[in-house]
Amino acid sequence: MSAPAGSTPEGWAPVRLRSTRRPAPDGGAAAGTDAALCDRYGRIHDDLRLSITDRCNLRCTYCMPDGVEFQPRHQLLRFEEIVRVAAVAHRLGVQAVRVTGGEPLVRRGVVDLVAALSQVGFDDLSLTTNGMLLEPLARPLAEAGLRRVNISCDSLRPDRFTAIRRRGDLGTVLGAMDAAEAAGLGPVKVNVVLVAGVNDDEVEDFATFARTTGRPVRFIEFMPLDAPGAWQREAVVDAASVLRRIGRRWALEPVAAADPSAPAERYRFVDGAGEIGVIASVTRPFCGTCNRLRLTADGAVRNCLFGTDEVSLRDLMRQGADDATLADALRAAVGAKLPGHGINEPGFLRPARSMSMIGG
Ligand code: SAM
Ligand code: SF4
Repeated sequence: MSAPAGSTPEGWAPVRLRSTRRPAPDGGAAAGTDAALCDRYGRIHDDLRLSITDRCNLRCTYCMPDGVEFQPRHQLLRFEEIVRVAAVAHRLGVQAVRVTGGEPLVRRGVVDLVAALSQVGFDDLSLTTNGMLLEPLARPLAEAGLRRVNISCDSLRPDRFTAIRRRGDLGTVLGAMDAAEAAGLGPVKVNVVLVAGVNDDEVEDFATFARTTGRPVRFIEFMPLDAPGAWQREAVVDAASVLRRIGRRWALEPVAAADPSAPAERYRFVDGAGEIGVIASVTRPFCGTCNRLRLTADGAVRNCLFGTDEVSLRDLMRQGADDATLADALRAAVGAKLPGHGINEPGFLRPARSMSMIGG
């Protein structure tokens, strides 16, 4: 578990944790007991999105303003705190963890954090990244126990790529996709946030990219979670129009979801050349099957990207709370979850935190 160049642990030593795959002593959430993270609508929460930093090396126009201010480091969870919350969540039935941010790979020691999370015993451990720092880290991350990565890439035109992301370059990100696959982190899913008038003329190009590389491309609807607050409904490129456009060029057929809670609707090319997906959070919300719980980089548990309530597990931990108290806080967060995000309702209020602060 050696740290690669540029990724040194921040004075933190990973601990070996006992796997809790066996039914937990507190009842075994996977068995569907009261211990499970089940909300009032019967949705079992077994997927945890862990934001490990609010910092980023890019400033995507749909996400962060150029002059963003980050939280002081002492307010962020330390690695042992993140792993502790993850282990408590695992005992409550969480089986999948996605590490995200901000940009998770800017956090020093991320490989050691992944190694410690892997020892908790989750069925799936993945990471979402902008790809800029991935190439040298891909193999160490895979060796640490990471299973797969999603890589964001909003344009296949170099100038436009840099204009949207304000920094970075397309070549590095394409190289990162190759490195991830070579390290065994494939299939690499490619996240594309479509914004009307910005990159929606590239839908067919991305479909071609999916066909020629075999990398599933996920077209994501622009959500009202941008820090600049510039989101407007007119900027959303609806998933139905994306599917219509691709379907005019190549025959598509739906792929039955292996995981009914997955946010992407998947379609394969009938001629066998790969697949694409749409994440229609705005126009076809999938809240009814949501199984996701989120932990922000500063330790707040959130039951929804768009929720307005959160509880600070960091404060509880730093006040000396035991694991049972943390488990109660996770259960309470899930118990308070609303049936839907309400984006399409008249009284919708954006959450105070933006996407990069919550963790996408
Ligand atoms: N920095 C990493 C990245 O860009 O992949 C991980 C964090 S980022 C917040 C996670 C995902 O959220 C990315 O695919 C990004 O494109 C997407 N995203 C960010 N802001 C968004 C918004 N306002 N609407 C929809 N997706 C957004
Ligand atoms: Fe950074 Fe990801 Fe937000 Fe872009 S989308 S600014 S890469 S956190």
